[in-house]
Amino acid sequence: MFERILIANRGEIAVRIIRTCKELGIETLAVYSTADVDSLHVQLADQAICIGNPSPAESYLMMDRILSAAEVGDVEAIHPGYGFLAENQQFAEACERCNIRFIGPTPDHMRLMGDKSEARATAVKAGVPVVPGSEGEITDEKEALRIAREIEYPVIIKASAGGGGRGMRVAHNDASLLLAFRTARREAEQSFGNAGVYIEKYLENPRHIEFQILGDMHGGAVHLGERDCSIQRRHQKLIEEAPSPALSPELRKRMGRAALKLVQEVGYVSAGTIEFLLDASNRFYFIEMNTRIQVEHPVTEAITGVDLIREQIRIAQGQKLGFDQRAVQIRGHAIECRVNAEDPQNKFMPRPGRIDFWAPPGGRGVRIDSHCYNGYKVPPNYDSLIAKLICFGDDRTEAVRTTLRALDEFFVEGIPTTIPFARAVMCDPNFIKGNYDTGFVETLLRGQLDPVVREEKRG
Ligand code: ADP
Repeated sequence: MFERILIANRGEIAVRIIRTCKELGIETLAVYSTADVDSLHVQLADQAICIGNPSPAESYLMMDRILSAAEVGDVEAIHPGYGFLAENQQFAEACERCNIRFIGPTPDHMRLMGDKSEARATAVKAGVPVVPGSEGEITDEKEALRIAREIEYPVIIKASAGGGGRGMRVAHNDASLLLAFRTARREAEQSFGNAGVYIEKYLENPRHIEFQILGDMHGGAVHLGERDCSIQRRHQKLIEEAPSPALSPELRKRMGRAALKLVQEVGYVSAGTIEFLLDASNRFYFIEMNTRIQVEHPVTEAITGVDLIREQIRIAQGQKLGFDQRAVQIRGHAIECRVNAEDPQNKFMPRPGRIDFWAPPGGRGVRIDSHCYNGYKVPPNYDSLIAKLICFGDDRTEAVRTTLRALDEFFVEGIPTTIPFARAVMCDPNFIKGNYDTGFVETLLRGQLDPVVREEKRG
Protein backbone atom coordinates (compact mmCIF):
# COMPACT_ATOMS: atom_id res chain seq x y z
CA MET A 1 0.00 0.00 0.00
CA PHE A 2 1.22 3.53 -0.77
CA GLU A 3 2.04 5.42 2.41
CA ARG A 4 1.86 8.94 1.01
CA ILE A 5 0.20 10.47 -2.04
CA LEU A 6 0.46 13.96 -3.53
CA ILE A 7 -2.77 15.39 -4.92
CA ALA A 8 -1.99 17.58 -7.91
CA ASN A 9 -5.31 19.36 -7.96
CA ARG A 10 -7.64 21.67 -6.04
CA GLY A 11 -11.32 22.20 -5.30
CA GLU A 12 -13.87 19.47 -4.76
CA ILE A 13 -11.86 16.74 -6.48
CA ALA A 14 -8.84 17.29 -4.23
CA VAL A 15 -11.13 16.99 -1.20
CA ARG A 16 -12.75 13.89 -2.72
CA ILE A 17 -9.38 12.18 -3.19
CA ILE A 18 -8.16 13.11 0.31
CA ARG A 19 -11.27 11.49 1.78
CA THR A 20 -10.57 8.11 0.20
CA CYS A 21 -6.88 8.31 1.12
CA LYS A 22 -7.84 8.89 4.76
CA GLU A 23 -10.15 5.90 4.67
CA LEU A 24 -7.31 3.80 3.29
CA GLY A 25 -4.83 5.07 5.88
CA ILE A 26 -2.74 6.86 3.25
CA GLU A 27 -1.16 10.22 4.15
CA THR A 28 -1.85 13.12 1.81
CA LEU A 29 0.21 16.01 0.55
CA ALA A 30 -1.75 18.90 -0.97
CA VAL A 31 -0.30 21.50 -3.32
CA TYR A 32 -1.95 24.88 -3.68
CA SER A 33 -1.69 28.27 -5.34
CA THR A 34 -1.71 31.55 -3.43
CA ALA A 35 -5.40 31.91 -4.40
CA ASP A 36 -6.19 28.67 -2.55
CA VAL A 37 -4.53 29.31 0.81
CA ASP A 38 -7.91 29.05 2.54
CA SER A 39 -9.14 26.14 0.51
CA LEU A 40 -10.55 23.09 2.25
CA HIS A 41 -8.15 20.68 0.52
CA VAL A 42 -5.26 22.54 2.14
CA GLN A 43 -6.87 22.20 5.58
CA LEU A 44 -7.79 18.53 5.19
CA ALA A 45 -4.46 17.23 3.86
CA ASP A 46 -1.76 16.05 6.26
CA GLN A 47 0.70 18.47 4.68
CA ALA A 48 0.41 21.25 2.11
CA ILE A 49 2.95 23.03 -0.07
CA CYS A 50 2.35 26.29 -1.92
CA ILE A 51 3.46 25.95 -5.53
CA GLY A 52 2.86 29.39 -6.99
CA ASN A 53 0.60 32.14 -8.23
CA PRO A 54 -3.16 31.93 -8.86
CA SER A 55 -2.89 31.45 -12.61
CA PRO A 56 -2.89 27.69 -13.39
CA ALA A 57 0.10 28.19 -15.70
CA GLU A 58 2.05 29.41 -12.68
CA SER A 59 0.95 26.71 -10.23
CA TYR A 60 -1.26 23.69 -10.95
CA LEU A 61 0.22 23.25 -14.43
CA MET A 62 3.85 23.59 -13.32
CA MET A 63 5.21 20.07 -13.54
CA ASP A 64 8.62 20.91 -12.05
CA ARG A 65 7.16 22.52 -8.97
CA ILE A 66 4.74 19.66 -8.39
CA LEU A 67 7.52 17.11 -8.79
CA SER A 68 9.74 19.11 -6.42
CA ALA A 69 6.92 19.13 -3.88
CA ALA A 70 6.63 15.37 -4.36
CA GLU A 71 10.35 15.04 -3.67
CA VAL A 72 10.21 17.24 -0.58
CA GLY A 73 7.12 15.46 0.71
CA ASP A 74 8.62 12.04 -0.06
CA VAL A 75 5.48 10.67 -1.74
CA GLU A 76 5.25 7.43 -3.68
CA ALA A 77 2.45 8.47 -6.00
CA ILE A 78 0.60 11.44 -7.50
CA HIS A 79 -3.14 11.62 -8.11
CA PRO A 80 -3.85 14.24 -10.80
CA GLY A 81 -7.66 14.46 -10.37
CA TYR A 82 -9.32 15.85 -13.52
CA GLY A 83 -8.30 18.84 -15.65
CA PHE A 84 -4.87 20.47 -15.16
CA LEU A 85 -2.25 17.72 -15.71
CA ALA A 86 -4.60 14.72 -15.56
CA GLU A 87 -4.32 13.92 -19.26
CA ASN A 88 -0.87 15.29 -19.88
CA GLN A 89 1.39 12.62 -21.32
CA GLN A 90 4.59 14.55 -20.55
CA PHE A 91 3.61 14.78 -16.91
CA ALA A 92 2.91 11.04 -16.64
CA GLU A 93 6.31 10.40 -18.26
CA ALA A 94 8.04 12.83 -15.91
CA CYS A 95 6.50 11.04 -12.93
CA GLU A 96 7.80 7.74 -14.27
CA ARG A 97 11.30 9.20 -14.67
CA CYS A 98 11.20 10.44 -11.07
CA ASN A 99 10.13 7.00 -9.91
CA ILE A 100 6.79 8.31 -8.71
CA ARG A 101 3.65 6.39 -9.62
CA PHE A 102 1.16 8.39 -11.68
CA ILE A 103 -2.32 7.31 -10.56
CA GLY A 104 -3.84 6.94 -14.00
CA PRO A 105 -3.10 5.30 -17.33
CA THR A 106 0.35 4.85 -18.87
CA PRO A 107 1.69 7.62 -21.14
CA ASP A 108 1.15 5.27 -24.10
CA HIS A 109 -2.54 4.82 -23.28
CA MET A 110 -2.89 8.57 -22.98
CA ARG A 111 -1.39 9.06 -26.41
CA LEU A 112 -3.49 6.31 -27.99
CA MET A 113 -6.81 7.25 -26.41
CA GLY A 114 -6.36 10.86 -25.26
CA ASP A 115 -5.94 12.25 -28.76
CA LYS A 116 -9.50 12.26 -30.13
CA SER A 117 -8.58 11.58 -33.73
CA GLU A 118 -6.26 8.68 -32.76
CA ALA A 119 -8.92 7.26 -30.45
CA ARG A 120 -11.39 7.25 -33.36
CA ALA A 121 -8.94 5.22 -35.39
CA THR A 122 -8.45 2.79 -32.50
CA ALA A 123 -12.22 2.38 -32.23
CA VAL A 124 -12.51 1.61 -35.92
CA LYS A 125 -9.79 -1.01 -35.52
CA ALA A 126 -11.66 -2.59 -32.60
CA GLY A 127 -14.85 -2.75 -34.67
CA VAL A 128 -16.64 -0.15 -32.51
CA PRO A 129 -18.92 2.19 -34.50
CA VAL A 130 -17.81 5.84 -34.76
CA VAL A 131 -19.70 8.88 -36.08
CA PRO A 132 -19.18 9.02 -39.87
CA GLY A 133 -16.31 11.40 -40.63
CA SER A 134 -12.71 11.82 -41.67
CA GLU A 135 -10.08 9.17 -41.27
CA GLY A 136 -7.59 11.01 -39.13
CA GLU A 137 -6.79 14.70 -39.13
CA ILE A 138 -7.44 17.08 -41.99
CA THR A 139 -5.07 19.85 -42.97
CA ASP A 140 -6.35 20.70 -46.42
CA GLU A 141 -9.44 22.84 -47.09
CA LYS A 142 -10.36 20.98 -50.29
CA GLU A 143 -10.32 17.69 -48.46
CA ALA A 144 -12.44 19.18 -45.67
CA LEU A 145 -15.02 20.26 -48.28
CA ARG A 146 -14.98 16.86 -49.98
CA ILE A 147 -15.59 14.99 -46.72
CA ALA A 148 -18.31 17.38 -45.54
CA ARG A 149 -20.18 16.93 -48.82
CA GLU A 150 -19.72 13.19 -48.69
CA ILE A 151 -21.08 12.75 -45.14
CA GLU A 152 -23.55 15.60 -45.77
CA TYR A 153 -24.10 18.75 -43.73
CA PRO A 154 -24.34 19.59 -40.87
CA VAL A 155 -20.85 18.56 -39.79
CA ILE A 156 -18.75 19.29 -36.71
CA ILE A 157 -15.07 20.18 -36.76
CA LYS A 158 -13.25 19.02 -33.66
CA ALA A 159 -9.78 19.64 -32.29
CA SER A 160 -7.89 16.36 -31.76
CA ALA A 161 -6.56 17.76 -28.51
CA GLY A 162 -9.86 19.40 -27.50
CA GLY A 163 -11.77 18.84 -24.30
CA GLY A 164 -14.23 20.30 -21.84
CA GLY A 165 -16.64 21.26 -24.60
CA ARG A 166 -14.05 23.50 -26.25
CA GLY A 167 -12.50 23.26 -29.70
CA MET A 168 -15.66 22.33 -31.63
CA ARG A 169 -17.44 24.15 -34.49
CA VAL A 170 -20.56 23.19 -36.39
CA ALA A 171 -20.93 23.96 -40.11
CA HIS A 172 -24.10 23.83 -42.22
CA ASN A 173 -22.74 24.61 -45.70
CA ASP A 174 -19.54 25.04 -47.71
CA ALA A 175 -19.08 28.68 -46.74
CA SER A 176 -19.51 28.10 -43.01
CA LEU A 177 -17.31 25.00 -43.26
CA LEU A 178 -14.36 26.95 -44.61
CA LEU A 179 -14.73 29.57 -41.92
CA ALA A 180 -15.19 26.95 -39.18
CA PHE A 181 -12.20 24.96 -40.45
CA ARG A 182 -9.85 27.94 -40.33
CA THR A 183 -11.12 29.21 -36.98
CA ALA A 184 -11.07 25.74 -35.40
CA ARG A 185 -7.46 25.20 -36.45
CA ARG A 186 -6.36 28.58 -35.18
CA GLU A 187 -8.22 28.18 -31.87
CA ALA A 188 -6.90 24.65 -31.40
CA GLU A 189 -3.35 25.89 -31.88
CA GLN A 190 -3.92 28.71 -29.39
CA SER A 191 -5.79 26.72 -26.75
CA PHE A 192 -4.14 23.31 -26.96
CA GLY A 193 -0.86 23.97 -28.76
CA ASN A 194 -1.94 21.54 -31.49
CA ALA A 195 -3.76 22.68 -34.63
CA GLY A 196 -4.94 19.16 -35.58
CA VAL A 197 -8.66 18.93 -36.41
CA TYR A 198 -10.96 16.28 -37.85
CA ILE A 199 -14.54 16.21 -39.14
CA GLU A 200 -17.59 14.30 -37.98
CA LYS A 201 -21.20 14.26 -39.05
CA TYR A 202 -23.14 16.52 -36.67
CA LEU A 203 -25.96 14.46 -35.18
CA GLU A 204 -29.13 16.41 -34.41
CA ASN A 205 -29.72 16.35 -30.66
CA PRO A 206 -28.37 12.93 -29.74
CA ARG A 207 -28.06 11.62 -26.19
CA HIS A 208 -24.64 11.58 -24.56
CA ILE A 209 -24.13 8.15 -23.00
CA GLU A 210 -20.80 7.22 -21.42
CA PHE A 211 -19.52 4.02 -19.86
CA GLN A 212 -17.28 3.96 -16.81
CA ILE A 213 -14.54 1.39 -17.18
CA LEU A 214 -11.71 0.05 -15.04
CA GLY A 215 -8.71 -1.92 -16.28
CA ASP A 216 -5.85 -3.40 -14.24
CA MET A 217 -2.24 -4.24 -15.10
CA HIS A 218 -3.08 -7.94 -15.40
CA GLY A 219 -5.53 -7.76 -18.29
CA GLY A 220 -8.61 -7.51 -16.07
CA ALA A 221 -11.31 -5.06 -17.25
CA VAL A 222 -14.90 -4.28 -16.31
CA HIS A 223 -17.45 -1.64 -17.11
CA LEU A 224 -19.61 -0.17 -14.36
CA GLY A 225 -22.59 0.76 -16.46
CA GLU A 226 -23.42 4.04 -18.09
CA ARG A 227 -24.13 7.65 -17.24
CA ASP A 228 -26.50 9.84 -19.21
CA CYS A 229 -24.92 13.29 -19.58
CA SER A 230 -27.30 14.81 -22.12
CA ILE A 231 -28.27 17.77 -19.93
CA GLN A 232 -25.63 20.12 -21.32
CA ARG A 233 -25.26 23.76 -22.17
CA ARG A 234 -22.80 24.62 -24.94
CA HIS A 235 -21.48 21.04 -24.88
CA GLN A 236 -20.77 21.25 -21.16
CA LYS A 237 -22.46 18.87 -18.77
CA LEU A 238 -24.71 20.28 -16.06
CA ILE A 239 -26.68 17.30 -14.76
CA GLU A 240 -25.83 13.61 -15.07
CA GLU A 241 -27.66 10.46 -14.09
CA ALA A 242 -27.12 6.73 -13.91
CA PRO A 243 -28.48 4.51 -15.24
CA SER A 244 -29.73 6.24 -18.41
CA PRO A 245 -33.52 6.26 -18.79
CA ALA A 246 -32.96 5.76 -22.54
CA LEU A 247 -31.25 2.35 -22.46
CA SER A 248 -32.98 -1.02 -22.55
CA PRO A 249 -31.11 -3.85 -20.82
CA GLU A 250 -30.28 -5.21 -24.28
CA LEU A 251 -28.85 -1.91 -25.57
CA ARG A 252 -26.91 -1.46 -22.30
CA LYS A 253 -25.35 -4.86 -22.83
CA ARG A 254 -24.37 -4.08 -26.42
CA MET A 255 -22.90 -0.67 -25.60
CA GLY A 256 -21.11 -2.03 -22.52
CA ARG A 257 -19.61 -4.78 -24.65
CA ALA A 258 -18.40 -2.23 -27.22
CA ALA A 259 -16.81 -0.13 -24.46
CA LEU A 260 -15.00 -3.15 -23.06
CA LYS A 261 -13.79 -4.16 -26.49
CA LEU A 262 -12.10 -0.81 -26.85
CA VAL A 263 -10.50 -1.11 -23.41
CA GLN A 264 -9.22 -4.57 -24.22
CA GLU A 265 -7.97 -3.54 -27.66
CA VAL A 266 -5.42 -1.22 -26.00
CA GLY A 267 -5.02 -3.06 -22.67
CA TYR A 268 -6.03 0.11 -20.87
CA VAL A 269 -5.05 0.48 -17.22
CA SER A 270 -6.85 2.61 -14.55
CA ALA A 271 -10.26 4.32 -14.60
CA GLY A 272 -11.52 5.72 -17.88
CA THR A 273 -14.69 6.70 -19.69
CA ILE A 274 -15.85 5.64 -23.12
CA GLU A 275 -18.20 8.27 -24.53
CA PHE A 276 -20.89 7.54 -27.09
CA LEU A 277 -23.61 9.49 -28.83
CA LEU A 278 -26.94 7.72 -29.21
CA ASP A 279 -29.29 8.79 -32.00
CA ALA A 280 -33.08 8.71 -32.07
CA SER A 281 -33.02 5.25 -33.71
CA ASN A 282 -30.88 3.84 -30.90
CA ARG A 283 -27.74 3.67 -33.03
CA PHE A 284 -24.66 4.45 -30.97
CA TYR A 285 -21.32 5.91 -31.99
CA PHE A 286 -18.06 6.24 -30.09
CA ILE A 287 -16.88 9.87 -29.82
CA GLU A 288 -13.99 9.87 -27.38
CA MET A 289 -12.35 8.37 -24.34
CA ASN A 290 -11.45 10.31 -21.22
CA THR A 291 -8.37 8.84 -19.61
CA ARG A 292 -9.03 10.14 -16.09
CA ILE A 293 -11.54 10.20 -13.27
CA GLN A 294 -14.51 12.34 -14.31
CA VAL A 295 -16.50 15.02 -12.51
CA GLU A 296 -19.62 12.86 -12.69
CA HIS A 297 -18.06 9.67 -11.28
CA PRO A 298 -20.13 9.73 -8.04
CA VAL A 299 -23.36 8.69 -9.80
CA THR A 300 -21.62 5.48 -10.82
CA GLU A 301 -20.32 5.01 -7.28
CA ALA A 302 -23.86 5.43 -5.97
CA ILE A 303 -25.39 2.70 -8.13
CA THR A 304 -22.49 0.21 -7.99
CA GLY A 305 -21.12 0.73 -4.48
CA VAL A 306 -17.58 0.97 -5.92
CA ASP A 307 -15.21 3.71 -4.71
CA LEU A 308 -13.58 4.66 -8.02
CA ILE A 309 -10.71 6.61 -6.43
CA ARG A 310 -9.88 3.61 -4.28
CA GLU A 311 -9.88 1.40 -7.37
CA GLN A 312 -7.55 3.84 -9.16
CA ILE A 313 -5.15 3.72 -6.22
CA ARG A 314 -5.31 -0.08 -5.96
CA ILE A 315 -4.72 -0.48 -9.70
CA ALA A 316 -1.77 1.95 -9.59
CA GLN A 317 -0.21 -0.23 -6.91
CA GLY A 318 -0.37 -3.15 -9.29
CA GLN A 319 -3.24 -4.93 -7.58
CA LYS A 320 -5.76 -6.95 -9.56
CA LEU A 321 -9.36 -5.80 -9.88
CA GLY A 322 -11.05 -7.71 -7.13
CA PHE A 323 -14.14 -8.51 -9.25
CA ASP A 324 -15.28 -9.44 -12.74
CA GLN A 325 -18.15 -8.22 -14.94
CA ARG A 326 -20.64 -10.67 -13.45
CA ALA A 327 -20.01 -9.24 -9.98
CA VAL A 328 -20.92 -5.70 -11.08
CA GLN A 329 -24.44 -5.09 -9.80
CA ILE A 330 -26.39 -1.96 -10.65
CA ARG A 331 -28.80 -0.96 -7.90
CA GLY A 332 -31.11 2.05 -7.72
CA HIS A 333 -30.75 5.38 -9.46
CA ALA A 334 -28.51 8.43 -8.96
CA ILE A 335 -28.59 12.03 -10.21
CA GLU A 336 -25.81 14.61 -9.98
CA CYS A 337 -26.38 18.37 -10.22
CA ARG A 338 -23.32 20.52 -10.75
CA VAL A 339 -23.59 23.59 -8.58
CA ASN A 340 -21.58 26.30 -10.29
CA ALA A 341 -20.83 29.83 -9.15
CA GLU A 342 -22.65 31.16 -12.20
CA ASP A 343 -25.70 33.30 -12.82
CA PRO A 344 -28.30 31.28 -14.76
CA GLN A 345 -30.30 34.51 -15.19
CA ASN A 346 -27.39 36.09 -17.03
CA LYS A 347 -26.15 33.55 -19.58
CA PHE A 348 -24.50 31.47 -16.88
CA MET A 349 -21.81 34.11 -16.38
CA PRO A 350 -19.19 33.02 -13.83
CA ARG A 351 -19.73 34.91 -10.58
CA PRO A 352 -16.90 34.19 -8.17
CA GLY A 353 -16.92 35.91 -4.78
CA ARG A 354 -17.47 35.42 -1.09
CA ILE A 355 -19.97 32.84 0.12
CA ASP A 356 -21.65 34.67 3.00
CA PHE A 357 -23.78 31.73 4.01
CA TRP A 358 -23.37 28.08 3.08
CA ALA A 359 -25.81 25.40 4.21
CA PRO A 360 -25.72 22.28 2.04
CA PRO A 361 -28.50 19.68 2.33
CA GLY A 362 -28.26 16.29 4.00
CA GLY A 363 -30.48 13.38 4.87
CA ARG A 364 -31.15 10.03 3.26
CA GLY A 365 -29.77 9.52 -0.21
CA VAL A 366 -27.83 12.80 -0.35
CA ARG A 367 -24.10 13.21 -0.99
CA ILE A 368 -22.29 16.53 -1.33
CA ASP A 369 -18.80 16.77 -2.79
CA SER A 370 -17.52 20.28 -2.20
CA HIS A 371 -14.61 22.35 -0.96
CA CYS A 372 -16.77 25.28 0.18
CA TYR A 373 -17.78 26.52 3.61
CA ASN A 374 -19.26 29.60 5.30
CA GLY A 375 -17.18 32.63 4.36
CA TYR A 376 -15.18 30.82 1.66
CA LYS A 377 -14.10 33.05 -1.22
CA VAL A 378 -14.52 31.43 -4.64
CA PRO A 379 -11.43 32.57 -6.57
CA PRO A 380 -11.91 33.86 -10.12
CA ASN A 381 -8.98 31.89 -11.50
CA TYR A 382 -10.49 28.42 -11.90
CA ASP A 383 -13.61 26.65 -13.14
CA SER A 384 -16.82 27.65 -11.41
CA LEU A 385 -17.81 24.29 -9.91
CA ILE A 386 -18.39 24.80 -6.19
CA ALA A 387 -20.30 21.64 -5.29
CA LYS A 388 -21.77 18.46 -6.67
CA LEU A 389 -25.08 17.33 -5.28
CA ILE A 390 -25.54 13.60 -5.80
CA CYS A 391 -28.87 12.07 -4.84
CA PHE A 392 -29.68 8.39 -4.76
CA GLY A 393 -32.99 6.53 -4.71
CA ASP A 394 -34.34 3.02 -5.16
CA ASP A 395 -35.65 4.10 -8.56
CA ARG A 396 -35.58 7.15 -10.80
CA THR A 397 -38.74 8.73 -9.38
CA GLU A 398 -37.29 8.58 -5.90
CA ALA A 399 -33.96 10.00 -7.08
CA VAL A 400 -35.70 12.96 -8.77
CA ARG A 401 -37.78 13.67 -5.66
CA THR A 402 -34.78 13.46 -3.36
CA THR A 403 -32.84 15.81 -5.68
CA LEU A 404 -35.64 18.35 -5.62
CA ARG A 405 -35.96 18.12 -1.84
CA ALA A 406 -32.18 18.53 -1.44
CA LEU A 407 -32.07 21.50 -3.84
CA ASP A 408 -34.82 23.16 -1.82
CA GLU A 409 -32.74 22.98 1.34
CA PHE A 410 -29.44 24.00 -0.29
CA PHE A 411 -28.81 27.59 0.84
CA VAL A 412 -26.01 29.64 -0.66
CA GLU A 413 -25.85 33.37 -0.09
CA GLY A 414 -23.42 35.95 -1.40
CA ILE A 415 -23.05 34.62 -4.94
CA PRO A 416 -25.55 33.32 -7.51
CA THR A 417 -25.46 29.59 -8.31
CA THR A 418 -26.99 27.12 -10.76
CA ILE A 419 -29.28 25.69 -8.04
CA PRO A 420 -32.42 27.40 -9.48
CA PHE A 421 -31.55 25.99 -12.90
CA ALA A 422 -31.26 22.46 -11.48
CA ARG A 423 -34.65 22.92 -9.81
CA ALA A 424 -36.17 23.92 -13.14
CA VAL A 425 -34.80 20.75 -14.73
CA MET A 426 -36.13 18.52 -11.92
CA CYS A 427 -39.60 20.08 -12.36
CA ASP A 428 -39.68 19.75 -16.13
CA PRO A 429 -42.30 17.20 -17.31
CA ASN A 430 -40.02 15.88 -20.05
CA PHE A 431 -37.09 15.44 -17.69
CA ILE A 432 -39.37 13.69 -15.21
CA LYS A 433 -40.36 11.28 -17.99
CA GLY A 434 -36.70 10.74 -18.87
CA ASN A 435 -37.45 12.19 -22.24
CA TYR A 436 -34.54 14.48 -23.14
CA ASP A 437 -31.47 14.87 -25.36
CA THR A 438 -28.57 17.30 -25.79
CA GLY A 439 -31.02 19.95 -27.10
CA PHE A 440 -33.01 19.92 -23.85
CA VAL A 441 -31.35 22.82 -22.03
CA GLU A 442 -31.65 25.18 -24.96
CA THR A 443 -35.39 24.51 -25.17
CA LEU A 444 -35.78 24.85 -21.42
CA LEU A 445 -33.90 28.15 -21.32
CA ARG A 446 -36.03 29.54 -24.12
CA GLY A 447 -39.24 28.96 -22.22
CA GLN A 448 -39.50 27.54 -18.82
CA LEU A 449 -36.56 28.61 -16.73
CA ASP A 450 -37.56 32.20 -16.21
CA PRO A 451 -40.71 31.66 -14.10
CA VAL A 452 -38.99 29.08 -11.90
CA VAL A 453 -35.95 31.29 -11.35
CA ARG A 454 -38.19 34.26 -10.60
CA GLU A 455 -40.14 32.24 -8.07
CA GLU A 456 -36.88 31.20 -6.46
CA LYS A 457 -35.71 34.80 -6.21
CA ARG A 458 -38.97 35.87 -4.54
CA GLY A 459 -38.73 33.02 -2.07
P1 ADP B 1 -15.26 17.31 -25.05
O1 ADP B 1 -14.07 16.41 -25.02
O2 ADP B 1 -14.90 18.73 -25.27
O3 ADP B 1 -16.20 17.08 -23.90
P2 ADP B 1 -16.88 15.62 -26.80
O4 ADP B 1 -16.34 15.06 -28.05
O5 ADP B 1 -16.99 14.69 -25.62
O6 ADP B 1 -16.06 16.94 -26.38
O7 ADP B 1 -18.31 16.24 -27.07
C1 ADP B 1 -19.00 17.02 -26.13
C2 ADP B 1 -20.44 17.18 -26.53
O8 ADP B 1 -20.52 17.80 -27.82
C3 ADP B 1 -21.20 15.88 -26.68
O9 ADP B 1 -21.69 15.41 -25.46
C4 ADP B 1 -22.31 16.30 -27.63
O10 ADP B 1 -23.33 17.00 -26.96
C5 ADP B 1 -21.61 17.26 -28.56
N1 ADP B 1 -21.11 16.55 -29.75
C6 ADP B 1 -19.86 16.06 -29.94
N2 ADP B 1 -19.76 15.45 -31.15
C7 ADP B 1 -20.97 15.56 -31.73
C8 ADP B 1 -21.51 15.12 -32.99
N3 ADP B 1 -20.77 14.47 -33.90
N4 ADP B 1 -22.81 15.39 -33.24
C9 ADP B 1 -23.57 16.06 -32.34
N5 ADP B 1 -23.12 16.50 -31.15
C10 ADP B 1 -21.84 16.25 -30.84
